[in-house]
Amino acid sequence: MGTIADYTGCVILENIRKALHYFDSTEGPLTQDEKGQRLHKNINEFEPLILSFNQAGEYIRTAKSIAIGERVCRVLRPGTVFSESVFLDELAVEMVAYGHARVATIEEAEECMQKSAGHPLIISKVSGEYLEICPSYPPDCVYWRAERKGLHCLQRKDQAL
Ligand code: SF4
Repeated sequence: MGTIADYTGCVILENIRKALHYFDSTEGPLTQDEKGQRLHKNINEFEPLILSFNQAGEYIRTAKSIAIGERVCRVLRPGTVFSESVFLDELAVEMVAYGHARVATIEEAEECMQKSAGHPLIISKVSGEYLEICPSYPPDCVYWRAERKGLHCLQRKDQAL
């Protein structure tokens, strides 16, 4: 499972980098591949959910702290579309403390999500809680890339068990 410390350090980025590299360097589905299975397990530990704008707003409005910062994986491919994620609660506090994000109001966070229309909103569990909402960039997103390799990990929040 990804932890808050993984986000404030470089562990999360390194894990995304390795996963994308593996996806790039392999052909076809990874459903029968041992390393693919390990990756699948690690990715599923984030229990990612696709959110509607209103569902994202519910998480934002009930958070104790909110921060906005560049989507975590963009640093790996800086030439790609710019988009910012919303971090919640303890992750927000720590991302600000480490200079990876800035404090935001509810309105700013909702505006940030609105600006990213066309990018599917995905919330991820960090340290066991849903704390990161990312307007995902499917060409380089580890979740969407995993799906394209047959490693199912995404479901819509309203369809989640
Ligand atoms: S685009 Fe995907 S991999 Fe990148 S930060 Fe967002 S959710 Fe994570």
